[in-house]
Amino acid sequence: MADKITAVKGMNDILPAESAGWEWLEQQLRNLMAAYGYRNVRTPIVEPTALFVRGLGEVTDIVEKEMYSFEDRLNGEALTLRPENTAGVVRAVAEHAMLYDGGKRLYYMGPMFRHERPQRGRYRQFHQFGAEALGFAGPDVDAELIMMACDLWSRLGLTGVKLEINSLGQPAERLQHRQALIAYLSAHQDQLDEDARRRLHSNPLRILDTKNPAMQVLVNGAPRLMDHLGAESLAHFNGLKAILDANDVAYTINPRLVRGMDYYNLSVFEFVTDQLGSQGTVCAGGRYDGLIGQIGGKPAPAVGWALGMERILELLKSANLLPAPPVVDAYAVVATANAWPTVANVLRTLRAQGLNVLMHSAGPDGLGSMKSQFKKADGSGARYALVFGEDELAHGMVSVKPLRADPNGTPTVQRQLPIAESARWATELQA
Ligand code: ATP
Ligand code: MG
Repeated sequence: MADKITAVKGMNDILPAESAGWEWLEQQLRNLMAAYGYRNVRTPIVEPTALFVRGLGEVTDIVEKEMYSFEDRLNGEALTLRPENTAGVVRAVAEHAMLYDGGKRLYYMGPMFRHERPQRGRYRQFHQFGAEALGFAGPDVDAELIMMACDLWSRLGLTGVKLEINSLGQPAERLQHRQALIAYLSAHQDQLDEDARRRLHSNPLRILDTKNPAMQVLVNGAPRLMDHLGAESLAHFNGLKAILDANDVAYTINPRLVRGMDYYNLSVFEFVTDQLGSQGTVCAGGRYDGLIGQIGGKPAPAVGWALGMERILELLKSANLLPAPPVVDAYAVVATANAWPTVANVLRTLRAQGLNVLMHSAGPDGLGSMKSQFKKADGSGARYALVFGEDELAHGMVSVKPLRADPNGTPTVQRQLPIAESARWATELQA
């Protein structure tokens, strides 16, 4: 036998036992978006590499080491599998001049690709759902997005997801803070790890985001960006807080929250849980007023978030919040291949009446005994077996055999029903 080919490391198959949960979560998300007037946008999985280099910033984890990049084999164009989708959405919005008649509320979902070390809650192909509001400047939209995520947790039944917020101010304020930060960190060179030393002059703000425990004390004592914000930035932040406060949205202000991409300004936020080990951030976002201009579009304010679907599903699964798989109403037990034309016809009629119906089909060794077919029928979870035996077929009939106890306690007896009238009795079999 040939060697088995397996999936790429860090990239997962989602099999039927799990995909039902995915479909359910996706539907919950679509319903939520409808409630807030957000509309779906679908952009390509492959984008020009420059989109991410310019959009996310060169000194970011993603651009420095996590992108799946390659050359187009014909024209040598530099391409990348999208590591995130904000840049793609912004590109599409600019490319199609979508803001010409005002702001837009958009959402997306789908696979993203990052070359990270695979571990629980961290994969190389993973899925994000994201919401983006483009063309709106006020903190009301930041609050709307945050409250929308809070609504999601309650719709899903998730508890223990905590909100952290911060303000990154504007570029000029960040520059001031940056100088103060470099001065402080330079004075403590000996306490910096290799990553921090490398970023000291290129992206010192990201050092505050370090996960290295040995650097926590140093980072805790660092100058705070919050103390460098001007009146306008503070007003925006206070506006956001006022809306959250008035709506009983609990949050903590985390002055060290900086986020991984360079494109953020003003509000940034994360939703975190302690139920997922070290991969505890389930949803993250913020304002990115500079991004559209940075990739060549007409400048416009924007704010959004993305959530990690695998992490949400893991939370739902461990809290037992995922719905049961869809019901099978009936399973057809088939005595002989001669019955196939009739069986196919009856099942189609039942399905047209809204029933979920499975047909027993032959494996390499044929249809199998009636006994083994009944076992399959039972295992499918079906509420009824439809028995297409030789005897039944000779009389134009099918036997309907209840497989589950009737919840009302009424006796569940097998009946023979006329095939010609299946559209009529189909409705009686519905759950
Ligand atoms: P982290 O600090 O965990 O690497 P990040 O800042 O890189 O996260 P974002 O780019 O903000 O993450 O992505 C938003 C969300 O997508 C994250 O909060 C997380 O839930 C999810 N996510 C990010 N990277 C991965 C991954 N490699 N595997 C699974 N989920 C991920
Ligand atoms: Mg990351």
